[in-house]
Formats: sequence, C-alpha cells, structure tokens
Amino acid sequence: MPEKLRVLTGDTPTGRLHLGHWVGSLENRVLMQNDYECYYLLANLHALTTRAENPAQIQQDTLDIAIDFLCAGIDPKKSCIFVQSDIPAISELAFIFSMLIPFPRLMRNPTIKDEIRDKGLGDSYPFGFLLYPVGQVADILAFRPVLVPVGEDQIPHLEMAREVARRFNQLYCGVDPHTADPLQVDNGGLFPVIEPKLGRVKRLVGTGAPNEQGLLLKMSKSLNNSILLTEDADSVQRKVMGMYTDPKRLKASDPGNIEDNPLWIFHDAFNPDKDWITEAKMRYQKGQIGDVECKKRLVDVLTAFIAPLHEKRVQLEKNMDYVKSVLREGAAKANAIANKTLRLTKEALHQVF
Ligand code: ATP
Ligand code: MG
Repeated sequence: MPEKLRVLTGDTPTGRLHLGHWVGSLENRVLMQNDYECYYLLANLHALTTRAENPAQIQQDTLDIAIDFLCAGIDPKKSCIFVQSDIPAISELAFIFSMLIPFPRLMRNPTIKDEIRDKGLGDSYPFGFLLYPVGQVADILAFRPVLVPVGEDQIPHLEMAREVARRFNQLYCGVDPHTADPLQVDNGGLFPVIEPKLGRVKRLVGTGAPNEQGLLLKMSKSLNNSILLTEDADSVQRKVMGMYTDPKRLKASDPGNIEDNPLWIFHDAFNPDKDWITEAKMRYQKGQIGDVECKKRLVDVLTAFIAPLHEKRVQLEKNMDYVKSVLREGAAKANAIANKTLRLTKEALHQVF
C-alpha cells in the first residue's frame, strides 16, 4: 500500500465553528479523511494573541471546537485531532522559522492588516499577534503535509509557509533554487511546498451589514456575525430573520440586489433546490417576492442541515471524558510526527551535538 499523502489544517479557538468554516474548509476535511492522513489542530496558543486575559474561555472554546469537529463528521479513528499547546516542537520550530521571514514581509501580509482593522485591534495588539503567522508556518511544516484545506483569508499565511519551505530546503538541505515546488522533497528538501485547498465557498460573508467601505465582512467567530454549525433551532431562526439583506429592496422602484446580499449568498451555498433559487432570484429582482418568504425558506434549509449536528452536540456535551480522550490520543500521534520533524530540522541546521 502506498503511503497516504498528509493533510494539515486548524482553527483558532476564539468561539464555536460556523457555516463559513463548513464551506471554507471543514467540508473538505471530512471528505479528505478517507484518502489522506489528516491532522486537525486546535490553535489554542494563537487564541492568546487576541484574548490573553481570558484563558479559561480559550480552554472552553478549544473543547467546543473539538466537539464541532466530531459533530461535523471528523472521525477520530481516521483523523488526528489535537491541541497546539500539547505539541512543544511547534513552538521551537516557530523560533527557527522566524529567522527565515523578513519582518517587513510579515507586515505586508494583507490578512494581518484586515484582522487589525476588522477586529478593531488599533495599535494595542501584542507582539505575539504578529508572531502568529510565523507560528502558523510552524504548525504546518511540523507535519510536512502536502495539502492544507483553508478559506481564502489564509492564502497569505500559506504563501509564507511555501516561502519558508523553499528557503529552508535551499539553505540547509542543498536543494537547487531552480527546483520546481513539487520536486523539492525528491531533491533532498526536508519540507514539501504545500498547496492550499480552497473550499467550495472561499469566503462566506457574515450576517451583518457592510462596513464603512461598503464591504460585506467575512463570517468570523470574532465578529459576532456568524451562524454556528451546531446552533439551536431558535437561534437559527432569529439570526436568519434578523440578517442583513438589501435595504433598497423596500423601495418598489428599485430592483432587489442579489449580488452583495447575504440572503442569496447563503441560499447559493446551502440550498440544494437550485430551481427554486433561480426562480426566486428572478422574482426578487422584480420585487415580486419578499425578504421574509426567502428568509423563511433559508431557515428551513439551514435547520435541516444544522439540527442533526446540534443533536450530536447535546449528546457529546454529556460525554466530555470521551472528547478529552480524543485530544489526548491525538496529541500522542501528533507529537510523534512533530518531534521527528524537529529532530530533522535541527540536524539540517547543525544544532544537534
Ligand atoms: P477568527 O475570527 O478568530 O479569526 P475565524 O472565524 O476567522 O475566526 P479561523 O479559526 O481563523 O476562523 O479559521 C479557520 C479556518 O476556517 C480557516 O481555514 C479559514 O480560512 C476558514 N474560514 C473561516 N471563516 C471563513 C469564512 N467566512 N469563509 C470561508 N472560510 C472561512
Ligand atoms: Mg480567522
């Protein structure tokens, strides 16, 4: 049997998982677990970057996301689910990789700029906030995966992982700088140059109104604009009925906008009845169908998807010993790989005596 290719990805425990996670990454993770060797990390150290004053909450969110993974169909018999702080090799690798990333390069990272703006971090974010993309390079390279299933906002971070892998391979493993990315390991490199795997919706918007620049913000755990994967039925109803649509829609003279309208973005992402969507969009643009009817339909669609996951959550919450045992077993398996990567990294760096 040929070895399965390795996959790694993760989430920061800043709240429970939402629909954006599903279409952006989680759905792919569930699909990939049969054909790949999968590692799914809970980045609890990175959660400290914006919530250092609230460690107990981070612990709760870490367990909550582990539950969300299990509810969504990640099978711990097939995939390794583990917590970042259980894997010391990652932090050591982050220190080493920080030497290979120019500081101005980090500051140009557009996701960092977006997060500082959207999360209102102003100029008070800690030094550790700027370290987290470096830490993320270490999260990834510690497992030497080939594929990383993520949403679009993660592409700049993944680009850094690709650059560090090439740089390390050239500097310390003697790989020729002209070597093509897919051939780096075959030519002696320690680190594969990973490929991102985007979900079927690269950036799902949230339920809120556009920002001052007229942009609909990404659905995000930290922005209070999400519908959770394991939300209870009443909240699904409340959030959908209260979500932003097209304010101009109320004017009979204006055709309803279906482009930058979360209502239709959500129908496109989750409603399997494509014929209904096509017809309803046409009627919406002509002012022949109201927001309320389309929202009610969306409530039904989302409830059908979310209700079984919510039910699983209720069961798992009664069995936290099992959830914790999944994380302990995951840590043992993850440490074996990450420790090996660290040893090979240090050997290449002449840091082993
Ligand atoms: P935070 O607000 O704390 O940054 P988040 O909601 O952005 O939380 P992350 O833990 O940063 O969630 O992201 C986990 C994964 O889910 C990443 O691969 C990210 O790209 C993906 N993801 C998050 N939000 C969305 C979204 N709205 N659409 C598509 N993918 C998303
Ligand atoms: Mg994020």
